[in-house]
Amino acid sequence: MNIPDPIPHYIDGERTGSADGATFDVLAPATNEVYTRAAAGGRADIDAAVAAARSAFTTGPWPRMKNRERARILNRIADAVESIDEELSTMESFDTGLPVTQAKGQARRAAENFRFFADLVVAQSDDAYKVPGMQLNYVNRKPVGVAGLITPWNTPFMLESWKLAPALAGGCTVVLKPAEFTPLSASLWARIFSEAGLPDGVFNLVNGIGEVAGDALVKHPDVDLISFTGETSTGKLIFANASDGLKGLSMELGGKSPALVFADADLDAALDSTLFGVFSLNGERCTASSRILVERSVYDEFVARYAERAANIKVGDPADPATEVGALVHPEHHQRVLGYVETGKSEARLVAGGGRPEHLPDGNYLSPTVFADVPRTARIFQEEIFGPVVAITPFDTDDEAVDLANDVQYGLAGYVWTNDLRRAHKVADRIEAGMVWINSHNVRDLRSPFGGVKASGLGHEGGYRSLDFYTEQQAVHITLGDVHTARFGAGGYNDQDPFFSGARSLR
Ligand code: NAD
Repeated sequence: MNIPDPIPHYIDGERTGSADGATFDVLAPATNEVYTRAAAGGRADIDAAVAAARSAFTTGPWPRMKNRERARILNRIADAVESIDEELSTMESFDTGLPVTQAKGQARRAAENFRFFADLVVAQSDDAYKVPGMQLNYVNRKPVGVAGLITPWNTPFMLESWKLAPALAGGCTVVLKPAEFTPLSASLWARIFSEAGLPDGVFNLVNGIGEVAGDALVKHPDVDLISFTGETSTGKLIFANASDGLKGLSMELGGKSPALVFADADLDAALDSTLFGVFSLNGERCTASSRILVERSVYDEFVARYAERAANIKVGDPADPATEVGALVHPEHHQRVLGYVETGKSEARLVAGGGRPEHLPDGNYLSPTVFADVPRTARIFQEEIFGPVVAITPFDTDDEAVDLANDVQYGLAGYVWTNDLRRAHKVADRIEAGMVWINSHNVRDLRSPFGGVKASGLGHEGGYRSLDFYTEQQAVHITLGDVHTARFGAGGYNDQDPFFSGARSLR
């Protein structure tokens, strides 16, 4: 593995350190050893990156290219991402603690994002409206400008691709501020973009601490948009900080998603899916089914089988292909999750896990932890833990299931397990969540909307919605035939003129 020391910024086509030379330590989650440092960006570095992005936007070719030309470069980026699958998964697993087998799919998905948005911009058509004999109105779609992209540490490279692909496809120039816990894989973008032929200054990257580099990006007057994925509390702060500049905002925030398992469900499938839903990616996934609500008649059986399976999950070295749950991303996060596990012990019944596995004395390991009989008032029911910890709660009626599902501040995802078609649709409709899966694990076609409601987000991404965020839809109105203007000062206003009655309603 090729590990830079320090991991540099990338500004205007150049790898560079921080203006003041500052760096921060980067830890390997399996051992917590400092394995490298990263340039710690400050205001001056953000200023330089935004200036490069602005100049590339104002005078460079990228925003003015034909969609087909941009798509060609996006497809070359996708090819490059796919070709580094092995390198990326090794890096991602090493830097984030994700099991290497689960890190592998990330490159394919990241590549798919670039191919998808390349296809979308080529196929894109915009609206035009004709008012016969009077007016033609059409939508002139234009890139918004400089986009600030702020990303979290869970599946970092793939989540960066979610933002980079539509922002670049739409013709924006960008400044990416990756998460400070996991800066390694983001360093691959510089090589990928430059080899694919992306003009200098279109993509810029500044590493650094959120409260410093991220904050400077959010508050920068020359940044038009902020696309943020991270915790709800950070999202609220960014929302406030971006208000002065009235920046466009897309917020993908936290979750505490329920899986509702009804007695008539295929219990084997529900078990597989709810286990994978919370323990894959180390439980560090925004759409994790971290609350499982189970109908009382099958509750005891479900809890027993769930606990037995959870206890069998293989926790270990992220680099070992047999590992199912690796190391949590950082010791601070590990401590936070362990804190919830201790809280849970006084709030509910522990049926699996509950601490560090004995065979793993170092690194940020945690046994998959299952709490049963969790009351809705418990902190482990209400708060996002973002680790391999699940809360199981019984319910008696459909109404109670929906009420429990909705009784948290979050609204990102929901999962419904039932073989009753009418119930499935009714319950899905009543769940307050941006996305619901029925008898399904979390799989998503890239065309469909992605995003949360309530405290889980603002705005939806996915398909055309992402392009809409990164582009302006300017309305252009053209008079067809004669120009009809009310002749102020000439006594020429004719209330019977069909143009004026039409125009008034078009205003
Ligand atoms: P975080 O909010 O701590 O950090 C996210 C990013 O914001 C990082 O790059 C960080 O440096 C930056 N940041 C922190 N403070 C900032 C500030 N004041 N101004 C500007 N930037 C700042 O989140 P995290 O711990 O990295 O990620 C985990 C969270 O992300 C979880 O809550 C998870 O649910 C959420 N998440 C949501 C989705 C989704 O699509 N809804 C997807 C993945 C993760």
